[in-house]
Amino acid sequence: MQKLSDRTAGFTDSVIRRMTRISNQYGAVNLSQGFPDFEPPKEILDRLEQVAHEDFHQYSITWGAQNFREALAAKQSPLMGRKIDPSSEIVVTCGSTEAMMAAMMTVANPGDKVIVFSPFYENYGADTILSGAEPIYVPLYPPTFQFNPDELEAAFKQKPKALILCNPSNPCGKVFTYEELSIIADLAKKYDAYVITDEVYEHIVYAPHKHVYFSSLPGMWERTISCSSLSKTYSITGWRLGYIIAPPEIIEVAKKVHDFLTVGAAAPLQEAVIPGLQFGQSYYDDLQTKYTHKKDLFLKGLDDIGLVHTNPEGAYYVLLDISEFGYESDLKFCEDLAREVGVGAVPGSSFFREPVNHLIRFHFAKKDETLQEALNRLADIRKKLK
Ligand code: GLN
Repeated sequence: MQKLSDRTAGFTDSVIRRMTRISNQYGAVNLSQGFPDFEPPKEILDRLEQVAHEDFHQYSITWGAQNFREALAAKQSPLMGRKIDPSSEIVVTCGSTEAMMAAMMTVANPGDKVIVFSPFYENYGADTILSGAEPIYVPLYPPTFQFNPDELEAAFKQKPKALILCNPSNPCGKVFTYEELSIIADLAKKYDAYVITDEVYEHIVYAPHKHVYFSSLPGMWERTISCSSLSKTYSITGWRLGYIIAPPEIIEVAKKVHDFLTVGAAAPLQEAVIPGLQFGQSYYDDLQTKYTHKKDLFLKGLDDIGLVHTNPEGAYYVLLDISEFGYESDLKFCEDLAREVGVGAVPGSSFFREPVNHLIRFHFAKKDETLQEALNRLADIRKKLK
């Protein structure tokens, strides 16, 4: 038999998704792969029920159903500070996972360099490999996860085609300030690079931090490929609804990539989510309040147990320092944690370029009682893992 493709040799399966399978195997409370265990908004579910009996069972337009794109453009335009054209400036994708992949394929040729901050969401590694690009990693330094502007400029001097910006950031919870984004913008302009954003946590930001859309910075619309999704905002990660927003010349190319990758996102689901896209500001305020409460509940619980952790400014992840347990492998720690303590986590090493083995990631997008159950189990962690 001939060898399978070299392209796939450079990465493993997703550790995040693997940890969900391991958590299920041991009946652990799964705080690994980030997805909620509470219901999506009722308005969306009610519409889903109706849609089953309406005419939405065949392909929608490949780059997204017209009314979905119109509703999305109406929602995003005021947020992103410009009038987005639903016909020429949006491609609807199967989750932001496809959006990011399509953006990479749109921008990068094999051999092109792409800047990735470390820690990073693990898909970006595979995205660069699959598109043939070569990542240049630039560290974000704990505890605030700031970058060093000189290191960033040194990366830009290697003539990258693009920079990937996850903001608010998974897994470190960083919300980039306007000043930090301006530094990136100046460098992108100076070295003529694109910026591919992943803004799926755009509505999960903790006061006093604020989300700034990168494309809204002066001169950045032209060179930004904004990717996001409805997964986190409406608690529908399984619906796989994502999108790319960018100038027409870029979208023209992204539409082609998307068309041949997946044809299109699920037509009935695009229709069913429209009431969500039409929610007023109070929905997003409530979402913020809900996640702020969950963050406070979970972090206080970790503090009570005496576990050292980061303080996220946005998104719904927390990194926990496991140095005190003396493990050499954070993967082994997470396996033991799932089996012995009954809580699922993701090993930090799957997010860092640097040899980091002392961190694990929990997410707190769960019902209060689920978080409480995880905390009850974690209370015994030192008895079980030391
Ligand atoms: N973004 C989520 C995480 O980091 C899950 C993403 C996924 O598995 N597609 O856990």
